Amino acid sequence: MTSIAFIGLGHMGGPMAANLVKAGHEVTGFDVVPAALETAQAAGIAVAPSGAKAVASADIVITMLPSGHHVLEAYNGSGSTRGLLGAARPGTLFIDSSTIAVDESRAAHAAATAAGHRSLDAPVSGGVVGAENATLALMVGGAEADFAEALPVLEAMGRRIVHCGGPGLGQAAKVCNNMILGVTQIAVAEAFVLGERLGLTHQALFDVASNATGQCWALTTNCPVPGPVPTSPANNDYRPGFAGALMSKDLGLAAQAIALTGVDAKLGLLAGGIYGDFAAGEGAGQDFSGVIKMIRSESDA
Ligand code: NAD
Repeated sequence: MTSIAFIGLGHMGGPMAANLVKAGHEVTGFDVVPAALETAQAAGIAVAPSGAKAVASADIVITMLPSGHHVLEAYNGSGSTRGLLGAARPGTLFIDSSTIAVDESRAAHAAATAAGHRSLDAPVSGGVVGAENATLALMVGGAEADFAEALPVLEAMGRRIVHCGGPGLGQAAKVCNNMILGVTQIAVAEAFVLGERLGLTHQALFDVASNATGQCWALTTNCPVPGPVPTSPANNDYRPGFAGALMSKDLGLAAQAIALTGVDAKLGLLAGGIYGDFAAGEGAGQDFSGVIKMIRSESDA
């Protein structure tokens, strides 16, 4: 049994922390929203009156917060709020599972190390369903020894856990994967709209492309038209799934990484702009495959 502090008990953090309790760990949680604390308590998580109190006697601190700004502020503190790094025992293992920019993640690692702690970045994919069922994929950056120590705890929250390299490289893997996903989902949607205009049925295009070189997850699992893949969000009025707002956020992080490295990633940047428009409208709360509706209506304009 490990003593774990869990900071950020929202859509993802709440069920992830609950799975740690189910696995027999002692979990103390904190969230700034009282309703999240109530739900956590019902799942057997002890709640603390502040982040600093939650981490005071923890072996491992996991953060699951909205953005890099939230993570760095929680680590370092602000105004009269004491930071988690200052409140934890020396040598505590900090694991940030939030999706944040690679450079913010490296800043978080550096701050944790400077404060005498150890740290990993461990962003996840698999959404709320994966968080609830402990089937998340976790991409981890940091020292090998810290990864080995964290592994039994990470295994209580997910299934596919990959050590990607040093500090920030878990976030790097996530940003690269989601850039592939975002671009391919648009490509598949554009192909279906083009097929419609050419008189091709959805099923005929699916039957050809899913068995040919157009085959990809965005087609065979997340098919953006209803019918060919009955479990895809398109059959459920584009209920997520993975919300357009989150894809827009993740491609914003990709754009930051592209700017940092100078890579000529035209499609990644273009896709970020397209999901930005989608999320600014009805797409924020819809599955990102719903971008096909925007492509269709733009084609009519
Ligand atoms: P969420 O908004 O539901 O949860 C974040 C929680 O953090 C909220 O409950 C908020 O009150 C709390 N919080 C903010 N500042 C805090 C602080 N200083 N101390 C304590 N609690 C604080 O968001 P979510 O959907 O759970 O996502 C969390 C992270 O996981 C994000 O970085 C997101 O990009 C990433 N993510 C989300 C999904 C998804 O499908 N929702 C999938 C993969 C990754």
